[in-house]
Amino acid sequence: MSDVTIKQLALVLGTPVEKLLAQLAEAGMKFSNADQIISSTEKVKLLGFLRRTHGKTEPVAEDSAPRQITLKRKTVSEITVNQGAARGKTVNVEVRQKRTYVKRSTVEEEQKVDTEREEALRKLSESTLKREADELERAAQEKRRAEEEAKAAAAAAAEAAAAEEARRRDEERRAAEEAAKAPVDKTPAATTSAPQPSTPPRPAAPPPRHAAPSSRPASSTGPGPGARPTSPPPPRRDDAPRHHTPRPASPPPKRPDDQNQARNKVKHGSHRMQEGPTADLGHRFAGGELHLTAEERARRFSRKKPRGKPDISRITGQHGFAKPTAPVVREVAIGDGIIVADLAQKMAVKGSDVVKALFKMGVMATINQVVDHDTAVLVVEELGHKAVRADAKDAETTLIARNEADQGDKEVRPPVVTIMGHVDHGKTSLLDYIRRTKVAAGEAGGITQHIGAYHVTTDKGVITFLDTPGHAAFTSMRARGAKLTDIVVLVVAADDGVMPQTIEAVKHARAANVPIIVAVNKMDKSEANPDNVKQGLVQHEVVPEEWGGDVQFVPLSAKTGMGVDALLDAISVQAEVLELRAVRDGRASGVVVEASLDKGRGPVATVLVQAGTLKKGDFLVCGIEYGRVRAMFNESGKQVTEAGPSIPVQVLGLSGVPDAGDDFVSVEDERLAKDVAQQRNMKRRESRLIKQSTKLEDIMATMTQGGEQQTLNLVVKADVQGSAEALKEALTKLTNELVKVNVIVSGVGGITESDATLAAASKATIIGFNVRADASARKVIETNGLDLRYFSIIYDVIDQVKQVASGLLGMEIREEIIGVAQVREVFRSSKFGAVAGCMVIEGFVKRNKPIRVLRDNTVIFQGELESLRRFKDIVDEVRNGMECGIAVKQYNDVKPGDQIECFERIEVQRTF
Ligand code: GDP
Repeated sequence: MSDVTIKQLALVLGTPVEKLLAQLAEAGMKFSNADQIISSTEKVKLLGFLRRTHGKTEPVAEDSAPRQITLKRKTVSEITVNQGAARGKTVNVEVRQKRTYVKRSTVEEEQKVDTEREEALRKLSESTLKREADELERAAQEKRRAEEEAKAAAAAAAEAAAAEEARRRDEERRAAEEAAKAPVDKTPAATTSAPQPSTPPRPAAPPPRHAAPSSRPASSTGPGPGARPTSPPPPRRDDAPRHHTPRPASPPPKRPDDQNQARNKVKHGSHRMQEGPTADLGHRFAGGELHLTAEERARRFSRKKPRGKPDISRITGQHGFAKPTAPVVREVAIGDGIIVADLAQKMAVKGSDVVKALFKMGVMATINQVVDHDTAVLVVEELGHKAVRADAKDAETTLIARNEADQGDKEVRPPVVTIMGHVDHGKTSLLDYIRRTKVAAGEAGGITQHIGAYHVTTDKGVITFLDTPGHAAFTSMRARGAKLTDIVVLVVAADDGVMPQTIEAVKHARAANVPIIVAVNKMDKSEANPDNVKQGLVQHEVVPEEWGGDVQFVPLSAKTGMGVDALLDAISVQAEVLELRAVRDGRASGVVVEASLDKGRGPVATVLVQAGTLKKGDFLVCGIEYGRVRAMFNESGKQVTEAGPSIPVQVLGLSGVPDAGDDFVSVEDERLAKDVAQQRNMKRRESRLIKQSTKLEDIMATMTQGGEQQTLNLVVKADVQGSAEALKEALTKLTNELVKVNVIVSGVGGITESDATLAAASKATIIGFNVRADASARKVIETNGLDLRYFSIIYDVIDQVKQVASGLLGMEIREEIIGVAQVREVFRSSKFGAVAGCMVIEGFVKRNKPIRVLRDNTVIFQGELESLRRFKDIVDEVRNGMECGIAVKQYNDVKPGDQIECFERIEVQRTF
């Protein structure tokens, strides 16, 4: 290293020469001018000085020395591997070595740091433990002190009480002595001495150490001997420290609040003990100190319950609830059905759990829905409980029993009349006339609303008219089992005579076994011919009285009112003959005539009371609905409070809209009403599933069981009048001692809805001879589970009914319709004749099965298929929803709209 001048060095370092000289002087090196040479040693010395002055105490040489040195070595060698004898293979082998040398002082330093950290941690944990232990100790001490003080307080209180007692006795004794000494003038003093605060403090009763008031200086309450009570008042909980009274030197007495605090602290302490790491601290709390002592507990709870015995369970620290150790299996009584919520309640589980269990079983039910018995049993078992059958004595039986018990004397009741007849013969006009002239009389405002029924008062009594003209309404009500009508008024226009619906009305009335009165209407017309009407009706076994029959014929005019009174008289006479009677005083029962949902008033039902008296406020079961009669209105819209037999009223207050034809009954309590309604709801749902109509087999089954003669009702429809009559005659003749064959309707044409409802009402079997049921009839047949049979050979019909009548279980030949195709278009081809472009609308059409061509539900041809094609191909069968071309053998008169029915004959063994 070459020597440089100070000036050069200053230049290199970038500092002024003077400053460098001054620094050199401070470092102890004397330089006079800037041109002097500075050696390397001097430069190092200067550097060391500068480092020192800037805080780096370590010598430069030492600092620069590395803390550790790593040595690496790599050797490469070759190894020749012999592979067989021929030639070897050379492999390069590289060995790498690495060694690190660490300065001893560094290692020692690190070790020192580690030990210091350990030491610090140890001290920290020690202090934590110590602090926790201290806290526990303090808490225990406080607790002990609190208890000691409480005991001392109790002792002092007892002591004070004893002292007070002694003092009182002493004073009494002294007063008695004084009184004895001066009986006249000292008496008042003696009587007032005991409670008077003017009495000087007695040394006999030293103030108890603990008593809070004793520590209160007299100055705070004012001077005077009266300010200081002679006996300590009992310690008060609300003795707050807000007086800032100086505390005496002795430890301050603990008030109950403080004691509670102390107890709380102890409690905290106990928690700490559980969390704490040292189990040996637990011994301090041995002896039940963590909890209230039995004595203290007794005191605490007796304070809460000052009268009576203290609750033992609370004193002993046990509560009344015992945790069940095994699942509780409950017996759940289930009737025909049960509401999900009730089921949950019976099992003491959440409703949602039951819903969940049902859901898992694939039953979607809400909490308010009813589940049937079987489903409920499955759920109960699923949830680990036991299902038992509910008492067979259901609500309905209770209801019937109560109603029977209520039976009283029967009185004459007004007749209920339904008006029937052919369209435009004047039913509405007649009803209107009667309503206008009879009801309005005397009733302010007259009829203001249509309620479906109304009553008129005539000279011979009250008559109730059902304002539901139409045969369907009549029959559908009867089908539900409601016998509303006592008399049918058959309106026949004198100028028109007997028409199809007139005959139908006669059939319905006959089937319902209701007497008929014929109103020969439109007698004001010049072309009126009442004899024609009579003749027409005689053919249907409606014979006028004057011709030796039992039916009253009343000529009238709904337009002029002529003969209307005579009609009302005729009704009254008929009613007398019928001897209509009902109990007046008693529970009301009857039938719903009409029902609807009113926006403002809720469900509104027009009911006809049939027995008893319905009163406002009665509870009702009405079909599957229930409720309380909130209000009742008559046909004039006037509020009424009661309605007797045969009187129609509008009722508000039901839970829902009942069906027309539903019966109602009043019950004494709502609970029963609700139960009955719910049970009925369940039963109605069930009965929809179980078809309950009388089938031929059922009749035979009943017959074989013996008993009286069975009636087999039949509805016979045929394609032509001749067949219908022949069938009716032949079938009626089959009546024997076992079975009475009763053809209630026989007619021409397809089976209509009216036929089906009539069959349902009379539990009749429908026989279709070369005719079919239309869509609406099929619906009624399906819903009511009616027995419908199609025939095409008269002999088959007779044979089947004969077998039934004779109770034989023979073979039955049934025609099964396997498919129906609707004709959409007809093409004429020179080769095949008429080809019907069809759409199969039901089942299959098969080429080798017999077919029938139907027009208006009547068979017009029976035969075979010539060909069955899909597009150009001949196929064996075509299924529902597909189009096809059908050519019928030897029949070319197929028209669009016709139906081609494909069927087969099967022989079945009849069974019960
Ligand atoms: P419904 O279909 O059976 O209810 O018959 P309506 O009561 O509607 O009557 C049909 C038509 O016959 C109406 O135009 C009435 O005015 C008329 N009409 C009803 N009764 C009489 C009557 O006694 N004399 C006359 N001349 N016309 C009547």
